[in-house]
Amino acid sequence: MTKIFNATLILFMALLVSCAYSKPVNQEILAAVKTPGPKPTSFSEFSRERNRLLEEEAISSLSKKTPILLSDASIPSDALLITNGIIIDGTGKAPIPNGMIIIWQKQILYVGPLKTFTNSPDVDIIDIEGNTMMPGIINAHTHHTYDPVTRHNLLMEGVTSICDLGCSMRCMPHFDEHYTPQNQPAARGFKAGPMLTAPGGYPGTFYGNSWHYDVSNVTEAEAAVYDLLSRGSDVIKIALEPGPLQDPWPVLKPSEVKKIVDTAHLYNVKVCAHVRQAAVLDIALTSGVDVIEHIPVPYRSVDEIKQYLKEDKLHLSAWPQLQNQFRYMADHNVILVPTLEANIAVLNQTCQLTESEQQQSIDFVLEIVRYFHEIGGVIALGNDFGSVGVERGMPIKEMELLLSADLTPMDVIRAGTYSAAQAIGYDDQLGSLEEGKIADLIVVDGDPLADIITIKKVTIIIQDGQLVYRSSEL
Ligand SMILES: [Zn+2]
Repeated sequence: MTKIFNATLILFMALLVSCAYSKPVNQEILAAVKTPGPKPTSFSEFSRERNRLLEEEAISSLSKKTPILLSDASIPSDALLITNGIIIDGTGKAPIPNGMIIIWQKQILYVGPLKTFTNSPDVDIIDIEGNTMMPGIINAHTHHTYDPVTRHNLLMEGVTSICDLGCSMRCMPHFDEHYTPQNQPAARGFKAGPMLTAPGGYPGTFYGNSWHYDVSNVTEAEAAVYDLLSRGSDVIKIALEPGPLQDPWPVLKPSEVKKIVDTAHLYNVKVCAHVRQAAVLDIALTSGVDVIEHIPVPYRSVDEIKQYLKEDKLHLSAWPQLQNQFRYMADHNVILVPTLEANIAVLNQTCQLTESEQQQSIDFVLEIVRYFHEIGGVIALGNDFGSVGVERGMPIKEMELLLSADLTPMDVIRAGTYSAAQAIGYDDQLGSLEEGKIADLIVVDGDPLADIITIKKVTIIIQDGQLVYRSSEL
């Protein structure tokens, strides 16, 4: 690329990461598009395993409506009981001050206040001594997380699931690897695979990698969704990125986006749209996209940021149309994954802006998130892990930025658990501590509602009902 990172392009660098596989796959993909296979019935090993378990009588008899402890004061001998701690369940409900959780065969059997029961001496009991139990964190927007070693490192920080929103097809099968070659467990990996985009559009144009899946008409749009679902995509990602003002990139047509969304929705699969420019937000919203990734803003270049600052227009009240679009999103349950950490890292690296201009630009994106939250919009946590300037491990920086947009600590926890599960379409199974759900949870030392940084002090990690980490102090 001869146009090295100039001021305009820097604005479109949130995904500035080198791809491990640079070989284009479009010919292979296009061949598959022309002959779509049968419609898939399930989309990941995870779902299949879950369905198999649900079919087993022992599990299905333990429905949410018949909590075992209320009807029978005993628990299975191979259950795990965590007791004597605060419970934050991830849904935003008030915490339970002195609670316990019972886990059996991957599932949560009981969540609630302490109860007495008859147990066999074999039951494992962990007294967490006043610490806090909460769902494992879900990072709903990552990249480069196909490697189980990377996901193992994330799991050991308390991130029990991630969703990778842009990778090559060759990377996709690796998300079904639940263990490292050393047999260490990895964070559960959901994935989109390549992003659907217009031929010559983002991200292929910008990165020259194989994270893109070109779609040039409605027929190809439908076939591409079937193709991706049959390859195991858990969500569908589309890119709506017009790129630089002077030399714009092609974007998908509204009819193509509509077909993508309608096809994915036939299978209850969510569609996430990369939208960083307000100019293309309506294409996503009128087509019924479920999740907006990043923060759509009215400026398209550094020059426009400077111009709007000069005109005193870098605040939301100057953009009533944008307010209407966010209101539409809130009213229609379109989730926002603001990826604040990556957005702000890009603004901080834009050396064409003065420090004051950078700060005013950051204040503007925070104002947008604050507004969306105030009007009842659902915000899910995803920090664009894998991008330049984004911390690895537990996404604490993203949490702190959400706090600075006036979310409460409880709102932030919900964003990183239940709402993140909603954003990837797995909130019926993950993201909250509720009876019948998969047992992914962490215990943290202290009260994260008093200080969010407590979420970094993980003392116990449980994934799929298995204890994968326990501090020697507990
Ligand atoms: Zn991304």
